[in-house]
Amino acid sequence: MMENNQGTPCHPLTVLPKRAIPSEENSGTLVKNMISDELILDGSARLNLATFCQTSLEPEIHQLMDAAIDKNLIDKDEYPVTAEIEQRCVRMLARLWHAPEADTTMGCSTVGSSEAAMLAGLAAKFNWRKRRMLAGQPVNKPNLVCGPVQVCWHKFCRYFDIELREIPMSKNRLLMSPEEVLSRVDENTICVVATFGVTFTGQYEPVLEISKALDEFEATTGIDVPLHVDAASGGFLAPFCAEQLVWDFRIPRVKSINASGHKYGLAPLGAGWVIWRSTRDLPEELIFNVNYLGGEMPTFALNFSRPGGQIISQYYNLVRYGFEGYKRQHNSCYEVAHYLASQLQKTGLFNLIFRGDKAQGLPAVAWTLKNPQKLSGYTLYEFGDRLRQRGWQIPAYSLPDDCCETVIQRIVVRRGFTMDLAQVLINDMKSCISHFHDVPVDTEHEIISRKAFNHN
Ligand SMILES: *Cc1c(COP(=O)(O)O)cnc(C)c1O
Repeated sequence: MMENNQGTPCHPLTVLPKRAIPSEENSGTLVKNMISDELILDGSARLNLATFCQTSLEPEIHQLMDAAIDKNLIDKDEYPVTAEIEQRCVRMLARLWHAPEADTTMGCSTVGSSEAAMLAGLAAKFNWRKRRMLAGQPVNKPNLVCGPVQVCWHKFCRYFDIELREIPMSKNRLLMSPEEVLSRVDENTICVVATFGVTFTGQYEPVLEISKALDEFEATTGIDVPLHVDAASGGFLAPFCAEQLVWDFRIPRVKSINASGHKYGLAPLGAGWVIWRSTRDLPEELIFNVNYLGGEMPTFALNFSRPGGQIISQYYNLVRYGFEGYKRQHNSCYEVAHYLASQLQKTGLFNLIFRGDKAQGLPAVAWTLKNPQKLSGYTLYEFGDRLRQRGWQIPAYSLPDDCCETVIQRIVVRRGFTMDLAQVLINDMKSCISHFHDVPVDTEHEIISRKAFNHN
């Protein structure tokens, strides 16, 4: 079917309109089928080994999401049970992360860690300004100190006019170190952000060591710099799989923590959390009370209307799996990561940067190529492209800053990526390697698109 010269599709519908809203109604079944047909060209979510996000969901989650499709989370007066469920999750997470006043502290759900980061960053900015004003000191341009962060912190700093002091990666240091932090903090630092599960490699930054360095800094300068932990992935991993690791509210300097419910929290896409150490750490000016939905409802969020199903599903997961269930599932992911790391090591072709050790980071594996000559001249970009032909999405990307010459590949092992699939993947990798061996690269003729890879 064609579009007429206004771009309006003619009846009957045989091709989906691309530019203008059709003038006539169409059958719901027909339109749904046509859209579903187009959508089969999207990648298969479970073969995407680059994402941290949840792609394996139980039928019960589908049912809960369906039943909640019309529940607006902001409407706490109309949906008091949904609102209460959100609060139960906040209390559970506050306790999981050892908040000293877990039953009364403040926290809220968000769309994901990005919104949570904006809220935590804003609270830190307001608190810093108040400290400066109370002390009668000038309020200059604020700054934030961090290691190699996820893009949400770049956004936070740009959107809210804060100087970002990001410690660049260097060849022998892929994380922030206490020394590097200390050389950047000053009286205008609103907070230091430690990433608990760095996007590029999956490693945890040393929260406790950084906190100790900031304690010494305070003792010598009198400047008290708060810590925020971006535990987007680690917040739902370490409490279950690395209990001895001290990274959370057990450290007094940690004032707020964010995590993505839709990553290792096992909730469907659209669930994030931010929790403050105590009510005193969330400035009151950031909380709005609205009465136009009935009742007097406090709200602190960037969004207003928002679906409630994700939060209900998060609660379902916490209750359904409990501590042991989360531990069991995440530990299986670590086992798969170890298996992949050891198999990759055995090929002799790769240098492993991270092997998914549970005390050091996420169930992820990251590697570089030892020497392109050993792979018949191919690079990780071609390796990624070749694996894509089998459906696997394991993109290669360059590290930031001083390491931009280093190209790495990373697999994030999530629920649903079983040992069986891992074995299939390793076999596929071996066939790619032997293909490269049989057909050495001819750089003159090989045209490869090296599209920028987007982390998420
Ligand atoms: C994924 C991630 C984010 C962004 O989280 P969303 O839930 O996707 O908004 C922020 N920080 C880190 C460390 C992450 O891994």
